Amino acid sequence: MRLVSIVIPMYNEQEAIPDFYSRLIANLNALDYRFEFWFVNDGSKDGTQEILESLHAADDRVRVLQLSRNFGHQAALSAGLAEARGELIISMDGDGQHPAEMIPEMLRMAEAGYDIVLTQRLPDQTENLFKRSTSRIFYGLINKIGDTQTLPGGADFRLLTRQVLDNLLAMPEYHRFLRGMVAWLGFKSVILPFSPPPRIAGASKYSLKKMFRLASDAIFSFSMLPLYIGLSAGLFFLVLAVIEAVYVLSFWVRGDVSTLEPGWSSLMFMLLIIGAVLMIILGFIGVYVGYIFQEVKHRPNYVIWKKNGPSNQSDSKGDSL
Ligand code: UDP
Ligand code: MG
Repeated sequence: MRLVSIVIPMYNEQEAIPDFYSRLIANLNALDYRFEFWFVNDGSKDGTQEILESLHAADDRVRVLQLSRNFGHQAALSAGLAEARGELIISMDGDGQHPAEMIPEMLRMAEAGYDIVLTQRLPDQTENLFKRSTSRIFYGLINKIGDTQTLPGGADFRLLTRQVLDNLLAMPEYHRFLRGMVAWLGFKSVILPFSPPPRIAGASKYSLKKMFRLASDAIFSFSMLPLYIGLSAGLFFLVLAVIEAVYVLSFWVRGDVSTLEPGWSSLMFMLLIIGAVLMIILGFIGVYVGYIFQEVKHRPNYVIWKKNGPSNQSDSKGDSL
């Protein structure tokens, strides 16, 4: 029987875990696959670790990876994906918003020959207006200016074959926007739409700061457009300067320089505009330099604190030297 890995990042989800786990098991029991579940505890401050370890003690398919602190959803997912040993790998949220009922269908799609099974959130009227509109603006923007097309309303609920995952893991970048990276990889994919149910418990663990960081990773690691804004604004002002020079020169040629207005306000306006444009462009360049700085440091995306792995096989990673 083929082994399927399911990777679930968890951050302060103690109330959701028991329900999530029982729904998951209920949907997988009848399937003709072997499963391993990689729960990644992304530095939770509540009882998540204890609950996950008790699941591990009761069910040896449950594996727990504890990160040394909160590294964020994308890093936690990457950590779990790197541990997965399955031929097929599914990632999903641990709050019940990614319905486990879809897993059998995702596996059928993989059997039918798809390398990637994506899921797409249908517009959700129960979600608050802020989240809906920021999501729409976000996907509109990255698909307009990004080099890679990302599915609007895409979710990190997807199935990858081993071949796709190995290629994904070979992408060493620090700033990880997995939805964009999977889209960049190509392969044969299919999309399953779904309406996200409400969370099992608790509130969203995506703070505004985390949403902003994800958006910035998506834009600055998938688009060079902000840099080109600088170039085009520069060219625009160069043209303006030439026009201005020709205009002023025409007064000299006609010999009536004295009629030139002092033009303080227009001068001030131009100074301000040019100053602002320069600052914005410098800011964009600063962001890219910052991103490059973080990439060249080659820091790991996450640090593992503790691993409750498979009990019957030794992990071949890390002790090969
Ligand atoms: N999550 C995580 N680390 C974080 C934030 C979130 O591992 O820093 C997990 C969280 O526990 C959940 C999944 O990522 O399983 C998605 O987060 P959430 O449901 O809060 O996001 P939303 O659905 O509100 O976009
Ligand atoms: Mg959620």
